[in-house]
Amino acid sequence: MSAYHCGFVALVGRPNVGKSTLLNRILGQKISITSRRPQTTRHRVLGIRTSPSAQTIYVDTPGLHRGARRAINRYLNRAARDALRDVDAAVLVVDGLRWTEEDDLVLESLRQAAIPVILAVNKIDRLADKSRLLPQLETLSGKYRFEQIVPLSALRGDNVDALERAVELLLPESEPYFPQDQVTDRSERFMAAELVREKLFRHLGQELPYGLTVEIERFKEEQGLTHINALIWVEQASHKPMVIGRRGALLKQVGTEARRDMEAAFGRKVFLQLWVKVKEGWADDERALHSLGYRDD
Ligand code: GDP
Ligand code: MG
Repeated sequence: MSAYHCGFVALVGRPNVGKSTLLNRILGQKISITSRRPQTTRHRVLGIRTSPSAQTIYVDTPGLHRGARRAINRYLNRAARDALRDVDAAVLVVDGLRWTEEDDLVLESLRQAAIPVILAVNKIDRLADKSRLLPQLETLSGKYRFEQIVPLSALRGDNVDALERAVELLLPESEPYFPQDQVTDRSERFMAAELVREKLFRHLGQELPYGLTVEIERFKEEQGLTHINALIWVEQASHKPMVIGRRGALLKQVGTEARRDMEAAFGRKVFLQLWVKVKEGWADDERALHSLGYRDD
């Protein structure tokens, strides 16, 4: 029998290229929230994929981006760079339809980290003209000494297994670090907050203010039911009615969908209550961020 492999792999890329979608696809379940809006991912999430030959521990990173002015953006950039320390390899995810300056920025941080990089060219399902794929891959191969270039569709699952095999080849020989049935190191409490945030992103679309966060105030088992109270923090009083919606319709919808996902993820009944509260200027304030759980770890 050949040796087992295990190691850490950073999933990097500018916002919105499909990193969270890819991770969820690899793991076969939703552990990382996705949306059309950039900056959906704010925390490091470990996704653990165990195969007969290797255990790959994926780190989902917040996209590196430029606005370093606000405390929240500084936190995000720090978290993204920290994710590159102590990994065995990285998967750079790009949108197959376009390469931007932000992609250059991410590639530069990988160059500095000096780790092996696999390029995942995502969203190939959107390439109308498939004959453009080869020349496009040719161009991308000139940007860096990638270990491999894998075109794929995270959304449809096309060629994702090829990426997984390529990644496994870069992992060191080691026994698995986690039990084989463990999919993430994140708590149910954390996932509950993420699921509420995902539904808000989905329903508010362009109207959603960035300064919005979710805090789980209570997470308790009682009489065979998981009781969850979630506080939705907004930055301004004027944002509150947007989140609540007409006669509470939006908040109700968010609550119903988040509860369903929680029940599917936790495998039991959930009683979910949502509250909207105002905390002015939290995204600018390092201390307020800290109290809401945005910590460097
Ligand atoms: P992240 O910011 O890199 O984590 O990106 P997300 O995973 O949140 O995805 C951003 C958007 O791209 C979402 O609307 C996804 O549904 C969409 N998306 C992700 N992967 C694919 C893909 O393979 N094909 C298409 N057409 N859309 C995708
Ligand atoms: Mg993401």
